[in-house]
Amino acid sequence: MEYAIQDVAQIIGAKTNTLHDCTISILLTDSRRLSFPESSLFFALETKTNDGHRYIQDLYKLRVRNFVVSKMLPEFAQMEEANFLLVKDVLAALQKLVAYHRKRFQIPVIGITGSNGKTVVKEFLYQLLHNEFDIVRSPRSYNSQIGVPLSVWEMNEKNTLGIFEAGISQPDEMEKLQPIIAPTIGVLTSIGEAHQENFISINQKCLEKLMLFNDSEAIIYDGDNPLISTLIESACLSHKAIAWSRTDREAPLFIESIEKKQDETVIHCTLLGFDRTYTIPFVDDASIENVIHCLAVMLYLKPTSVNDTEKFAHLEPVEMRLDVKEGIQGCLLINDTYNSDINSLDIALDFLQSRKVAKNLKSTLILSDILQSGTLPKSLYKKVADLVERKKVNRLIGIGKDLKEFASVFGEQLEKSFYQTTDEFIASPEIKKFNNEVILLKGSRHFHFERISELLEKKVHETILEVNLSAIVHNFNFYRSKLKPETKMVCMVKAFGYGSGSFELAKTLQEHRCDYLAVAVADEGAALRKEGITIPIIVMNPEFSSFNTMFEYNLEPEVYSFRLLDAMIKETERRGIIAYPIHIKIDTGMHRLGFQPYEVPQLIEHLKTQSGVKVRSVFSHLAGSDSFVFDDFTQQQLEKFKEAATSLENGLGHPVIKHILNTAGIERFPQWQMDMVRLGIGLYGVSASGINGLRTISKLKTTILQIQHVPAGDSIGYSRRSYVERDSRIAIIPIGYADGLDRHFSNGHGEVVIRGKRCPIIGNICMDACMVDVTDTDAQEGDSVIVFGEELPVSELSDRLKTIPYEILTSVSPRVKRVYYWE
Ligand SMILES: *Cc1c(COP(=O)(O)O)cnc(C)c1O
Repeated sequence: MEYAIQDVAQIIGAKTNTLHDCTISILLTDSRRLSFPESSLFFALETKTNDGHRYIQDLYKLRVRNFVVSKMLPEFAQMEEANFLLVKDVLAALQKLVAYHRKRFQIPVIGITGSNGKTVVKEFLYQLLHNEFDIVRSPRSYNSQIGVPLSVWEMNEKNTLGIFEAGISQPDEMEKLQPIIAPTIGVLTSIGEAHQENFISINQKCLEKLMLFNDSEAIIYDGDNPLISTLIESACLSHKAIAWSRTDREAPLFIESIEKKQDETVIHCTLLGFDRTYTIPFVDDASIENVIHCLAVMLYLKPTSVNDTEKFAHLEPVEMRLDVKEGIQGCLLINDTYNSDINSLDIALDFLQSRKVAKNLKSTLILSDILQSGTLPKSLYKKVADLVERKKVNRLIGIGKDLKEFASVFGEQLEKSFYQTTDEFIASPEIKKFNNEVILLKGSRHFHFERISELLEKKVHETILEVNLSAIVHNFNFYRSKLKPETKMVCMVKAFGYGSGSFELAKTLQEHRCDYLAVAVADEGAALRKEGITIPIIVMNPEFSSFNTMFEYNLEPEVYSFRLLDAMIKETERRGIIAYPIHIKIDTGMHRLGFQPYEVPQLIEHLKTQSGVKVRSVFSHLAGSDSFVFDDFTQQQLEKFKEAATSLENGLGHPVIKHILNTAGIERFPQWQMDMVRLGIGLYGVSASGINGLRTISKLKTTILQIQHVPAGDSIGYSRRSYVERDSRIAIIPIGYADGLDRHFSNGHGEVVIRGKRCPIIGNICMDACMVDVTDTDAQEGDSVIVFGEELPVSELSDRLKTIPYEILTSVSPRVKRVYYWE
């Protein structure tokens, strides 16, 4: 839908210059997601960690002409064709505009909130109702203060139903989302501990969530949940309540019984007095509850829609992951299993594009028919073709009847081929022709693209380390929010990113505007540069033999001694280099590498008499910042450093970045953040001082190869160290000490998690395998096994071994494949 810029200015109450005529249809909040410059309106959002005003000049060069800003910068004066809409609060303006947009529609809108299950309920409803309504809904989990307006903006005249989710992490946020979604039907999924940090109590959070339903006609929730029921009553919302229940026969939706079978569940219920039975293809409690929420919504929205029990049997699980794996022949494989619709295709193509540029590879999209009602196939595939062209895809492989039929809408320059079915593609010679490409696989579930990904994936070991890049970003922002906006951050990606892999991490951090990366040795830095990392990289342990690499890849060394400094200077002079950036390390008590504070005057002398290197930063490292026991010592280190750093800066006569805090330091001494901090272990989800709010980023997992029935009295494994006392079921899993599973975990000292249960490791751990006692579980061959992850924290493993989490993380052997994903 289009708006004249004059109207937008009026709706949001902006001050403006004389406006040039323009119509806008796209709201842009992230400059990296630009695709239609002329019709985009950019909102220069200021967050704790970033400022959108910084990107305006670049966007102007890319032909964006419309900007909502909260300050006028001097450089705006030269942008003659631009329209600036000046407001006090850019985010509020975005929300106001979309609230206005929302008011234009009289269709039913479902608003979903709650701690868990929002996205799943939204997607289930979409699956269950898309034949009866033209639905507009939030893409993925766009449920934040920014995500909600962007989702609701997509509403147009053709839609007959909206489904949006709202998430909050702070008091007073829901008040702002309410007028934007203005749901006519509200759904409250479960209430749990997620995002509890900023609320006084779970009641407060729940009441805040209920605000979303202020103007709703109906509110759907689990009537058996005492907390929710009481709060609905106290918020005077009872007259709108549509509670479903397993105990109250009078409830509009009474759940008579829930019968779990091997891989499906049968739900018997009474809907408005009629008995019905639904079979759903899930057995977990969360999915069952989510389906019941949907049933209640459908019953209210359109009672006839619950008659078709068959569609419940075909519900597809909702996955929100974007996996990145190494493929065959130099390829990189991106597997997006999320529902195949055009919004999620747009997002996935951005990801493809960023990886393509970074790795300098060709980009290929393997796409199935998009199952979506509402849009006619021809205009749908025209849209797809536009996207494919704008995101600079080089090659398209289209699979499905519709794509084949509308093949002609795709551009001339695109290398393309079409197949009727997945089988036809797999049988074709083209399946063998992949070379140095980033491949995005995006298929509706029933096209079974997992069969293609199996063929394109590089085959290795069944033991993998899964790394959640969204969690890394969360942790990064978690620490960033504890710092002043101007404080810079170095992310430590040394030792292969503390074991989680360096490139994907570095790329992710670069995209989130981390200032510096730090690696241990020059080769690690060179590898990152070769893969397209452009932000500054510090090398912590530069070796004299690595100067070549350092200069060639523009890596900035830590300099800790006169011997190293003089060699560096000599080398720059020999090459005619001026002012090469270096980082001076002062030893204030750690007694590892570094200049002594008393050497600073001499250091200044050395530096002032040359021009080859220039000190960019000066730093020191704390030896005991994680424990209050050493706080006096830490204080001494801080004082010593401050004195040395200041005298260095004064002596050199130019500003130098000063930094001393590591993770524990940021947590415990934020007042010492100075100009920059160095974040290590916290990024990887381990708090140095036990604070809450971090997310686990990695999961080491494997599978059960075989289960053996071992009679009582037999021994297990090498050297017969364990005997079973009862008839036992023993699972063999393909992970051994060569993968990084410490041998001290043998014979019951360590555990793994299978089907949610702890199972002891039994016998001695072998090089490539070990044995686990699964007698007390219903574990089956092929089940997945978690060695560490959310279910079994790394810190628990390190405590058992009397070591530190760093060692567990960095011990995972390089032969264990790293698999990255986004949520
Ligand atoms: C590894 C390292 C860090 C990061 O330490 P964490 O405890 O992981 O935060 C910071 N500074 C230096 C010099 C390091 O070597």
